[in-house]
Amino acid sequence: MKASPPVPPVPAAARPWSRRLAPALLLAVLAVLPLLPVPEFWITQLNYIGMFALVALGLVLLTGVGGLTSFGQAAFVGVGAYTTALLSARYGLSPWLGLAAGLAITLAIALVLALITLRMSGHYLPLATIAWALSLNFSIANMESLGKYDGLLGVPAIELFGISLADGRAIYYLIWLFAIVGAIAVRNLLDSRPGRAIRALGGATVMAEAMGVSTFRYKVVIFLIAALLASVSGWLFAHVQRTVNPSPFGLKMGIEYLFMAVVGGVSSVWGAFVGAGVFKIIEDQLKELLPALLGSNGNFEIIVLGIVLVLMLKYAPKGLWPSLQGLLSRWWPAAPRERDWEGAAALASRPKPPAGSVLLRVDRLRKQFGGLVAVNDVSFELRAGEIMGLIGPNGAGKSTTFNLVSGVLPATSGELRFAGESITGLPARQIARRGLSRTFQHVKMIADMTVLENVALGGYLRSHSGTAKAMLRLDRAEERRLFAEAESQLRRIGMQDHLHELAGNLALGPQRLMEIARALCADPSLLLLDEPAAGLRHKEKQALAAVLRQLRAEGMSILLVEHDMDFVMGLTDRIVVMEFGTKLIEGTPAEVQASPEVRAAYLGTEH
Ligand code: ADP
Ligand code: MG
Repeated sequence: MKASPPVPPVPAAARPWSRRLAPALLLAVLAVLPLLPVPEFWITQLNYIGMFALVALGLVLLTGVGGLTSFGQAAFVGVGAYTTALLSARYGLSPWLGLAAGLAITLAIALVLALITLRMSGHYLPLATIAWALSLNFSIANMESLGKYDGLLGVPAIELFGISLADGRAIYYLIWLFAIVGAIAVRNLLDSRPGRAIRALGGATVMAEAMGVSTFRYKVVIFLIAALLASVSGWLFAHVQRTVNPSPFGLKMGIEYLFMAVVGGVSSVWGAFVGAGVFKIIEDQLKELLPALLGSNGNFEIIVLGIVLVLMLKYAPKGLWPSLQGLLSRWWPAAPRERDWEGAAALASRPKPPAGSVLLRVDRLRKQFGGLVAVNDVSFELRAGEIMGLIGPNGAGKSTTFNLVSGVLPATSGELRFAGESITGLPARQIARRGLSRTFQHVKMIADMTVLENVALGGYLRSHSGTAKAMLRLDRAEERRLFAEAESQLRRIGMQDHLHELAGNLALGPQRLMEIARALCADPSLLLLDEPAAGLRHKEKQALAAVLRQLRAEGMSILLVEHDMDFVMGLTDRIVVMEFGTKLIEGTPAEVQASPEVRAAYLGTEH
């Protein structure tokens, strides 16, 4: 096993000054720019960059983090723009009313679209967003009341506290206020309880569901947030342009927004700004430069822009912002999370079932994959306070049994009871809610999140902060309690030196230990461990066995699959042996070791 080097914990005081000063400086520069003799052209440019960044920000959340691709964001921009244009230009209502109405209409449309499309997997969502973008654009362009292709003219300027924001230098402040507040809110969200669930959407949904997360719900949430950000951008756009027409809200622009997010760095909040800026500036410069160079007015800029984008993606595949961060890391190193949870109150814990009572009853459980019977009418009972081993040769159906018991896979037939209740047919997250937590044979984690954050996801069901609370940063007290719990579970499992490492950088053994800590963070009454000792060295195995014994002494029940026979025989109270999907025998370690059938099963396959 490859050992990963321990990272010394960095005290909070060691944070470099640039970490705090750089954002303040940048903000100060942004604030004074319009007061300096900066040419109007660049103020306009910055205004567009701010508005584009708002849309790209939504895509960072939706596509970069959540893995859901949308080509239809420009259509939501259009909804925001047309709503306010219609209400203010046609009916003389306040633009602020237009903002509220635009957001409400966007929310309604996005919710309907989300409920229809987000259950579909694969390419349906991108295709559905294309269809939505095309149909909205077509409808606007053909509606008499919306001025068809000419659009709506005479959109008034926004007024704020009696000050007209007609001037580019005035509305600049409003645009950047929205953009920065939006970015901070999205950043807050990503670093929170709902944020960790959202970060699982990209490739760890099975794990997240097993930790109690409704992944569908969070897909809807990020789809709505992205749509609302786009709608705000549209509202600003209408009042900057003072007119609206269908062309900026079509599919082409939808694709361009996606490009901005990807070029900037599709999973980083500040990448949205870099992407919007680079895209807008390159596009404009090409429009100026190319006709001058080539002496004609063809649409060459689109071709050249395409080539530039492809080159950027080739040389900075994660986007410009992450590459820039890599370069800047010398002066601006990534600081680990401040350890601010010392002394936080413990999270509520669940009462343990009385020792000796039947905790899990598996009754004629069956799973067929086509013609293959992976689990063949298996029955057994696990009593509270015992460690039960599930052993058998490779392919015997042990992991499949775990998947059925934890609700990760639906059973073909059979009954499951847990803590006196039927859990047959329940989804994983509802079984988790009842006090069952698990690890996976093939580690499932969020590789670009720290070990500590991965483990904190295990405490999802013991915490409550929602999306709005997280965006407003009102969740800190609960976060401290979650991190205190996550740290203590990591400490218990001997992982205290790896808290701030990225989970993906750990060796396999520590990754498995991290999964155990994550499962423990859920405060389960039954722990399912699928090959927990694989990849561990002898000393680490002994330490793990000691931890599991300690847990048993505290009233925890454990069901574990393991190939290391010394480990299993020395630790378990009872063992179920499976072969070819069928339960061979059940008994104490001594009975199992003495069984001729078990010897035959193992001799037949392993020697
Ligand atoms: P074990 O964990 O005991 O090694 P598994 O439960 O992983 O065994 O697998 C039992 C059998 O079911 C194997 O033959 C495996 O190939 C098959 N199997 C497991 N999962 C699937 C699946 N999702 N689709 C089809 N076959 C599967
Ligand atoms: Mg297995």
